[in-house]
Amino acid sequence: MFSNLFSKKTPVTIRDIKLYNTESKQIEVFSPFDDKEVKMYSCGPTVYDYAHIGNLRSYVFADIVKRVIIRNGFMVKHTINLTDFGHLSDDGDAGEDKMTKGLKREGLPITLEAMRQLSDRYIKAFKDDMDELHILEPEKWARASDYIKKQISLVKTLDEKGLTYETSDGLYFDIAKFPKYGRLGNINLNKLKSGARVEVNNEKRHPADFALWKKSELGWESSWGKGFPGWHIECSAMAMATLGKQIDIHTGGIDHIPIHHNAEIAQSEAATGKTFVKYWLHNAFITIDNTKVSKSLGNTITMRHLMDRGFTGDDYRYWLLTAHYRSQVNFSWDALKAAKQALFRLKRYVYEEFKQKTATPSKEYLDKFDDCLANDFDTAGAIAVMWDMVNDKNLDNKVKCGTLMSMDEVLDIGLSDDLTDGVRSLGVISTDELPEEIQKLIDGREAARIARNWEMADALRDKLKLEGYELEDTAHGPKVTKF
Ligand code: AMP
Ligand code: ZN
Repeated sequence: MFSNLFSKKTPVTIRDIKLYNTESKQIEVFSPFDDKEVKMYSCGPTVYDYAHIGNLRSYVFADIVKRVIIRNGFMVKHTINLTDFGHLSDDGDAGEDKMTKGLKREGLPITLEAMRQLSDRYIKAFKDDMDELHILEPEKWARASDYIKKQISLVKTLDEKGLTYETSDGLYFDIAKFPKYGRLGNINLNKLKSGARVEVNNEKRHPADFALWKKSELGWESSWGKGFPGWHIECSAMAMATLGKQIDIHTGGIDHIPIHHNAEIAQSEAATGKTFVKYWLHNAFITIDNTKVSKSLGNTITMRHLMDRGFTGDDYRYWLLTAHYRSQVNFSWDALKAAKQALFRLKRYVYEEFKQKTATPSKEYLDKFDDCLANDFDTAGAIAVMWDMVNDKNLDNKVKCGTLMSMDEVLDIGLSDDLTDGVRSLGVISTDELPEEIQKLIDGREAARIARNWEMADALRDKLKLEGYELEDTAHGPKVTKF
């Protein structure tokens, strides 16, 4: 099933989409294999722990790609995989299996059943993060342990074609048999030879040869002994099983370029003889203190951490979209707070003006906005256009709201949510310690309200407003928001 979620909404002028293809290192005009239906695959998370805010950037980015493509007249079928075994801590087949690491961390037995349980938990957490961030559900979730037969069959095809060799610990793809190996990102294979990798496996013929099958006591039976498929074959097999031999767009973070995606190309193309992916798109990293966010570096922040500090998925999504996906961005709480406040201003504006109903969007601003998005998914530019529109004194408020509603079909930062009962959507400030004098005003107003001294209560509320704080009475008591 392909999705086309905007078909009944605002008509948008269809335009050519230009995108940066990592393979050609150039901006290209998007022209999928089929002129209507686009097949898209995103490397999913390894579900041994919560996804961190860097991982989540990859999926917000893929979501924007999908929405922009749909907005420009295509239907999209999107697969995201869930890696629930076999991803070693070093992408080049060395180190500990991440799922096993997760089992040990949580004191669980090292069995396939326990692994399934552990991954169930983190798959659920990941899907909750996706919902919180308004990421469209993919048409297909592909869970690696549900596709073992497909993976074994793909390895068998490569084996039968004479492209593999066996070692004491597994079955390897022989890159010498695939001369175009390393074309993504122009990997310098000679450099790899001089021992750039973490662990040296002397049985490998070339350091870049990669495991198609790893022998292990834990796993599944195969012609190459008990064990599990390599992490790379998982993506090739599931992409082909869910989307076919050729896919239009493949996304992932830039860390996947040198090994994982080159391996995917080699296995898939060697097996089918066809171009595997037409457009390779990669997002840059999120850093903290200018260091990559990474579970292994122990500097991770998750969606839960953000929510504990009072931020919502909308806030983080908005913050992410203010930067271009190919720029590395440094996360800081201050930057997120500034994004939250800007978004709050916008939501508040829609909330207040919405009562007047919306009018047909401004074609001029929508065109500029869609031009930015069609220009290699320039969300930062699109957001700048959005603010220009909001600040345009000559534009009618109803038109502004109508335009924002259309923009939010792609941005999905909660502008079109039902805000009438939504204190949370409006952005309750629980992130800040309230200054003492503000807290005093709130307490005083609460006391006046309880005493039914409405005049005093209103006066204190106005005073708070002058200080930049809005007070709202909810079923759970007064909520304060800063604007
Ligand atoms: P993993 O769970 O490690 O397979 O990663 C899931 C996705 O997150 C992949 O597309 C990675 O390339 C991406 N990723 C990992 N770390 C970061 C980061 N710090 N910033 C942006 N993307 C990242
Ligand atoms: Zn992958």
